[in-house]
Amino acid sequence: MSRFWSDVVKGLTPYVPGEQPKLANLVKLNTNENPYGPSPRALAAIREATGESLKLYPDPNAEQLKLAIGKYHGIDARNVFVGNGSDEVLAHAFLGLLKQARPILFPDISYSFYPVYCGLYQVAFETIPLADDFSIQLSDYAKPHGEKCGGIIFPNPNAPTGCLVPLAEIEILLRSNPDSVVVIDEAYVDFGGESAIPLVARYPNLLVVQTLSKSRSLAGLRVGFAVGHVDLIEALERVKNSFNSYPLDRLAIAGATAAFEDREYFDKTRNAVIASREKLVAELKALGFEVLPSAANFIFVRHPKHDAEKSALALRQRSIIVRHFKLPRIEQFLRITVGTDEQCAALVAALKAILEQR
Ligand code: PMP
Repeated sequence: MSRFWSDVVKGLTPYVPGEQPKLANLVKLNTNENPYGPSPRALAAIREATGESLKLYPDPNAEQLKLAIGKYHGIDARNVFVGNGSDEVLAHAFLGLLKQARPILFPDISYSFYPVYCGLYQVAFETIPLADDFSIQLSDYAKPHGEKCGGIIFPNPNAPTGCLVPLAEIEILLRSNPDSVVVIDEAYVDFGGESAIPLVARYPNLLVVQTLSKSRSLAGLRVGFAVGHVDLIEALERVKNSFNSYPLDRLAIAGATAAFEDREYFDKTRNAVIASREKLVAELKALGFEVLPSAANFIFVRHPKHDAEKSALALRQRSIIVRHFKLPRIEQFLRITVGTDEQCAALVAALKAILEQR
C-alpha cells in the first residue's frame, strides 16, 4: 500500500496465475497448457516475421489473422475481434458490454478472473451456484418476474470443472435473454465441446471468446479472439482503440495466422490430448478417484479417502505439479492438465504410490 496509489488500485484483488516454475524436469500439469508444441508452420511463420519489418508497427487491425479465423470458422472477418490473449478480449468485453446498471451473472465456481475484471471495471455481479453434480444449470440464470440481468458469462466447458453445457441449452438461454449480452468463454471447447460460433448469425446478443493458448499450443504468443454481431465487435474495437492500438505484434499475427491454416496439425494434437484424457480418466477411476466428466484438456478429480491438498504436496515432492484451489466446495479436488501419455503415466504411478503410503 502506498499513498501514491489510486483508490481503484487500493481496492483491487488481482488474479493469481498458476505457477510457472523455473525448475527443469518437472511434470507440469498445473496451467492447462498443451503438451505438444505449436504447429511447425506457425513456428516457421514467426521465424520469418523476425526481420527488418520489426522496425514498423504491426497492422493495428490484424486483418490477416481475422481473415484466417473467419475462413476457419466460415464467418465474415467483420465478426471477429482479436486481442492479446483471450484474457484481454474478456477484459474488453467486461468494460464494453458487461458493465451495465444491473448485475451480471456467472457461476460461483468458474474462471477466477471474472470477479477480478468486475473489481477493475466496477461491474456489479451475482454468482449462481453450480448444481450438486458441479454442472452449470442455465435454467438457474432466469431472473424471477421477467427481471433482466446485466449480462451472463461462463466458460464452456467450465473451468476448473471441465463440465460442458449442451449447445441446445445455450440457445434457450440466448432466446430467453434477448436484451442481455451472453458471453461464452470457449477457451477449452476444442477438446470435446461444440462451439456456439454458428449461433452468432442468429443471436445478436451472443459473444463467443476463444484462445490459441490451449488447443493451438500458443500460450506464449498471447492471442485470443471473439466472434459476435458487428455491433458487439465494434464495442470491443472501441475499447481496444482507447487502450492499445497494437495489442498483437507482428510475430503474433504471423504465427497465429499460420496456426489457423494448419488444420492437420491442430486435429492431430487435439485428438492426441483427447485420447490421453480418456485413458487417464479410466486409470484414475481404477485408483478410486471420482472424476467429473471433462470436455477440456484437464480433469477435476477427488478421492474419497485422501486429502487433495496433501496429495498435491506429495505429487510436488515427486516433481509433478497439479492445481489445488483452497476454495469452498472444491477444496477436495485436484485440477490436472492432460499431458502426454508419458506424463500421464508418471502421474498415475506417483498417485498410486502416494495412495498406497497412506
Ligand atoms: N478463459 C478461461 C476459462 C481460462 O482458463 C483461461 C486460461 N487461464 C483464459 C480464458 C485465458 O487464456 P489466454 O489469456 O491465454 O487466452
